[in-house]
Amino acid sequence: MTDEKLYQLCKQYGQWTLHWRWKFTGLLPEVNRRRLYEKKGFASIFEFAAKLAGLSNDQVRLALNLERRFEDKPALKQMLVEGKTSLHKLTRIASIATVENEQELAQKVNVLSKNALATLARDERVGSKSLPGQTLKFDLSDEVIEQLNLLHAQGKDVNVLLMELLKEREEKIVTKKEELSLKAMKTDSHYVSAEVRHLLKEEYGEKCSIKWCSRPAAVIHHSQRFGLAHTHDPKFLAPLCHEHHQIAHSIDARVQSYSHSIVAGGLFVMS
Ligand SMILES: [Zn+2]
Ligand SMILES: [Zn+2]
Repeated sequence: MTDEKLYQLCKQYGQWTLHWRWKFTGLLPEVNRRRLYEKKGFASIFEFAAKLAGLSNDQVRLALNLERRFEDKPALKQMLVEGKTSLHKLTRIASIATVENEQELAQKVNVLSKNALATLARDERVGSKSLPGQTLKFDLSDEVIEQLNLLHAQGKDVNVLLMELLKEREEKIVTKKEELSLKAMKTDSHYVSAEVRHLLKEEYGEKCSIKWCSRPAAVIHHSQRFGLAHTHDPKFLAPLCHEHHQIAHSIDARVQSYSHSIVAGGLFVMS
């Protein structure tokens, strides 16, 4: 057997293993309700699951717990009891699942990875709420401190001055973006010009463009589908991390084909 063949088999069997484990786990709430494990001579549901499928106590607890939480959420409950997905994924969204959003979440579970689901849940919980009493996450240099202290001593409002500077920077970016937006032409090429990439970097740095996300940007996402718009208008481009990128596309899960520029090693390069 070649290495490649051996690897293929490992992947295939691994996938089947996962699939059947989900199925087995989905049966546990019903087994528990009927106390089937007792009738069949097992000391507990834990022994039942361990002996029949090698599940840990934690996994059993998780399955029973999730089923209770999904009691009034039929779409999510169905995913659990029919073994359509992993407990890991369902756990990620359990904290944000409501009667109103559960159908939508069930769809997301189908298309998003475990990490993207965790990101989605976190976004939902903290969202753009800024934290009160924030402190600087970096140090100011002695020179900057000296200048700010001097301005303060002169009776200037340092906060106002800094806000003005920040606004000026923002306006510069907006102006440049307008200019490049006007220049954006219809194209079939996936090449995003150096000018545009430079501007995006100026605006978002190396980071995902979702304000509260601190992960590095991984792709330049076209918020207007490139397949339709056929331009790289910077107004509709946003660097995103892998997780937020999956989320962005899951909003329109029907979109299968889209194009991207990949951000590698902090540099925007094309893929
Ligand atoms: Zn995209
Ligand atoms: Zn992100």
